[in-house]
Amino acid sequence: MTDQNLPPSPISPTIDLDADGTQHGFLRLPYSRDDSAWGSVMIPICVIRNGKGPTALLTGGNHGDEYEGPVALFDLARTLEPKQIGGAVIIVPAMNYPAFRGGTRTSPIDKGNMNRSFPGRPDGTVTQKIADYFQRSLLPRADLVLDIHSGGKTLDFLPFCAAHVLPDKAQEKKAFAAVAAFAAPYSNRMVEIDTVGMYDTAAEEMGKTFITTELGGGGTARAATVRIAKRGVRNVLRHAGILEGEIEQAPTRWLDMPTADCFAFAETGGLIEPTIDLGEPVNEGDVLARIHPVDRTGIAPQVIRAAMSGILAARHFPGLVQTGDCAAVIAMLR
Ligand code: ZN
Repeated sequence: MTDQNLPPSPISPTIDLDADGTQHGFLRLPYSRDDSAWGSVMIPICVIRNGKGPTALLTGGNHGDEYEGPVALFDLARTLEPKQIGGAVIIVPAMNYPAFRGGTRTSPIDKGNMNRSFPGRPDGTVTQKIADYFQRSLLPRADLVLDIHSGGKTLDFLPFCAAHVLPDKAQEKKAFAAVAAFAAPYSNRMVEIDTVGMYDTAAEEMGKTFITTELGGGGTARAATVRIAKRGVRNVLRHAGILEGEIEQAPTRWLDMPTADCFAFAETGGLIEPTIDLGEPVNEGDVLARIHPVDRTGIAPQVIRAAMSGILAARHFPGLVQTGDCAAVIAMLR
C-alpha cells in the first residue's frame, strides 16, 4: 500500500529507537505557527528494549478525549524495566498529541481524526503527518500492535478488548489469542462499519497482530477501567513473550458485533432518555432509548428500538443528542 515515491517524513525521533535500555523522548514534528515560529509538536515516545525478541507497539490517545490508554501507558513507560523484558516495547501514550492536549476527539489544529487519516501523508496536515510516521516508521517495526480506545466525550462502552474478523484466518486467530490475554471483562469480535483510513486497517494490512479496546468513556477515566487497562497491557506483553511472568487471568464474556444492525442512530435531536443500561440484555424490538423534542411540550418522543437481540454494549453519553448521533450499540453474547 505504501507509495515508494513519497518524500521522507518531516517527523524525527529525539531518541535512538534501536538502542538497548529505556529511552524517553519525543517524535518532533515541525509546526511553524503564530505563537511559535519554527516551533514543533513534541509527541512523547518511550522505547524500552532488551536485546533481540518481538516488538510491541502500544498506543493511546488516538482520539484525544479517551483516557484509559494514556493513563496506563504513561504509567507503563515510567515503571517497565528493560531487565523485565526480551525484545522491545514502543509506547506512544497520546498518538494524536494535539487532540490529547486539547481534550478533543480530533486535532484542534486541522480537525483530523487520527483513526480516519491512515495511511497519512508526509506532506499533508499535522494529523496526516503523524499517521504517515506510524504507517512507514513505527508499524513496520512491530509484531503486535495494541491501540487503547475508550468512548470519549460522546459514548460510553462496556469495557472490552477487541479484534476484527479478517480474511487471513491465521492472522485473525493470533489477534483473538491476544484479546483473550488482555482479559478485559468483555472480549469482542468486531466487523467495523467504516474501515477506510483506520489505524487498525493499516496494521492489519501489514499482517500485524492488531488488537484494540473500548474501556469506558464519557470523556474521563474510571478507577475500574484504568485497572483493566494496566492489567491488559502487561498481559498482552506477557502473551507476546516480551514481558516475564504469568498472565493475570480474569473472567471475560465473549461478544460478537457482526453487522450494522448493532448500531442505532438518532433520527431527531433532543433529550435522550435511556431505557436500559450498559450490560443489560435486550431483545429485538425492545426500546433502547427515547428522544424527547425540547422545543415544546406535548410532542411524542422518537423511540429507538433494538434491531437485534443481545446486550447493550455502548450508549450515547451526553444528555442531549443530535440527529445522526450513535444512540446505542448492541452486541450479541456468544
Ligand atoms: Zn477512540
